[in-house]
Amino acid sequence: MHHVLIVEDEQKIARFVSLELEHEGYKTTVIGDGREAYESAVAYDYDLIILDVMLPSLNGIEILRRLRQVKDTPVIILTARDQIVDKVAGLDIGANDYITKPFAIEELLARIRANIRKKTHVYEIGKLRIDTSSHIATYDGEMLVLTKKEFDLLVYLIENRNKVISREQALVTVWGYDFVGSTNVVDVYIRYLRAKIDDKYGINLIETVRGFGYVIR
Ligand code: CA
Repeated sequence: MHHVLIVEDEQKIARFVSLELEHEGYKTTVIGDGREAYESAVAYDYDLIILDVMLPSLNGIEILRRLRQVKDTPVIILTARDQIVDKVAGLDIGANDYITKPFAIEELLARIRANIRKKTHVYEIGKLRIDTSSHIATYDGEMLVLTKKEFDLLVYLIENRNKVISREQALVTVWGYDFVGSTNVVDVYIRYLRAKIDDKYGINLIETVRGFGYVIR
């Protein structure tokens, strides 16, 4: 699950954005104070940050400038319609995107999806290597032929390494809230993955935790 930090001191906007994002399956954290937001952005690996400019204690531009010295977390800045200067300054110092207030939530969601996708992640577990930007999975250098759902499920388990994932969690994240069908589909895809990885290479990658779900350690 992608974790989005919402830095916004107007509580009404923050709550609205947070609810919408959680409805879309994101995990969110809301912080209204600039300095606190900067510290949190450095301390945690957020998948994306929505950053308001006018904030108490430290403004958004300054947060971004400092953050870019240590991290490349995708940042979308929120600017008021009349503050073109903020937009230019933000992009200059490394914002990935901007959106002007007031904004349509669909537009913000689209920007979030586009910017999260750009983030590259390479996971390595033993001889298994997964590149989420190119969607390539290999085992000991050999390409694994996975369908999109198999790939997404594998990545979800790996992103949550050492945590037991329930069928319901996997279903919501990989298939989406609007998927109509039973959680058995998760078991079916786990079997596909095991056939292509565990069985093929004689390893025990995906463990079943009876009564709970699945885990990769
Ligand atoms: Ca503000």
